[in-house]
Order: sequence, then structure tokens, then C-alpha cells
Amino acid sequence: MSETNPKIVVCDGFDLASQQVAKIFANAIKMNPEIVLGLATGSTPVGTYQALRQMHCEGNLDFSKITTFNLDEYIGLGPKHPQSFRAFMQEQLFDHVNIEPQRTHVPSGLADDPAIEGKSYEAAIVSAGGISLQLLGIGSNGHIAFNEPGSPANSRTRVVDLTPNTIDANSRFFESIEAVPRQAITMGIATIMEARQIVLMASGEGKADAVAQAIEGDVDESMPASRLQQHGDVTYVLDSQAASKLSRKSLSAC
Ligand code: PGA
Repeated sequence: MSETNPKIVVCDGFDLASQQVAKIFANAIKMNPEIVLGLATGSTPVGTYQALRQMHCEGNLDFSKITTFNLDEYIGLGPKHPQSFRAFMQEQLFDHVNIEPQRTHVPSGLADDPAIEGKSYEAAIVSAGGISLQLLGIGSNGHIAFNEPGSPANSRTRVVDLTPNTIDANSRFFESIEAVPRQAITMGIATIMEARQIVLMASGEGKADAVAQAIEGDVDESMPASRLQQHGDVTYVLDSQAASKLSRKSLSAC
């Protein structure tokens, strides 16, 4: 591993971390207005999307030629379902910027044949030229996208069972834990590893153990994010709490 990879940036709080991630994405869009981005859902990227919306609103960021691929979607939820990741993306970003709807991609949670959906999602990423910059969160169990512990390194877009830990963590978005889908369609570890650059953002104490194990622990299927140690261009943007269990000292300030 080179001294500069991974790059670990530690910010004082969620808002500054979000600004930092938004800056990385905005700069990438400005450098290449036709960039293909990989996007994520959950609580972590909400501040990033807010900052990107703001930049667009102020006339500083043009989304008109970019293409996006989201990491995952719940099985059984259609795009209009308020808890679907498609609805999340519309609400948090797509409805507020000048992005071309046909260039936004979220796997379908309603596909008749999810295996075909997985293959065609992979093919669409390839035909767009591959993902240049991928945004990731991390689960407290170390998952990336919905690649739960045990996900193989060669996994691609497919249907997976969610772990009780993830169902519990995500129940805060639903009326009850029973309403949380038990399965999702997700990009695989291999799909994510093909992105040319990866930014993983994590915030809060609840992520500190997973972050430390991902960055400093063994590369192992039981900790899916540890696989990122084998990627050549990863930036972790962390708030101080999420960084609190790291033992390394070579951390950059925000
Ligand atoms: P969160 O989820 O952003 O809602 O914490 C991240 C994840 O589970 O990957």
C-alpha cells in the first residue's frame, strides 16, 4: 500500500465531512462534465447531496451530461415507494438538479427476473464506460452497498438477503421493522472494485469499529469493506468519531 493510499481525511463533524465529499464530487464533475458517478443512499450522503444541490442552485455545477449508477435497491419496492432508493435519490438530488433522467440508474427492485436485472445493470455500467468515481457508506457490520459479511470478492450485481443487523439499522426509515424488505439487489464487491476512484464517507461512533477494521484489519470476507485495501485509489472522509478507533497517525485534516 502506498503512503497516499488510502487517503484518510478527518473532519470535525458530519457537516464538514459532507462538504469535503461534495467538493471531491464537484471537482470531478468540473474536470469531466460527462463523468460516470456511482452513488449511494442512507443517512451518510444526505449532507453531500444537499451541498451539491446548493452548488447547482448557485449556478456552479452542471449535471446535464453526467451519468449515475446507484449501488442498490430493496427487492419489492417500486420507484414510487417512499422508502425505495430511487425515491430517495429523486428527493435528495435528481429532482433538484439538471440531470437527464434517462442517465440516472438504480437497480430495479421489481424485476421479474433479478438475475437478468443484475446482468443488464452490469452491462449498462460497462457500456457507459465504467464508473469513474464511486461514493460509498459503510454499515456498522462492515458492509458496503448491501454486500453483507461473507460476500465473495468476485460478487457482482445480484439479489442478497439482508442481515438482522442491517434490517434493524434501516428500520428507522420504515414504520416498523416488519416493513423493512428482507432482500435487496446490490452491486457486488467486484463491481465496486472496478470503479476507478472510491470515496467512502463515515460519520459517528457507531461506524468507528467497522472503519478501523476495514482500514487496518485483515482483508477478509467477514469485513466486506476491508477489500478496499486492495483498491489503488480510495479516500476515506471521516468525522472524528468515525475515525476514533484508527491507530494510524497519518491522517489528513479536512
Ligand atoms: P447509513 O448506512 O448511511 O444510513 O449509516 C450506510 C450503509 O449501511 O452502508
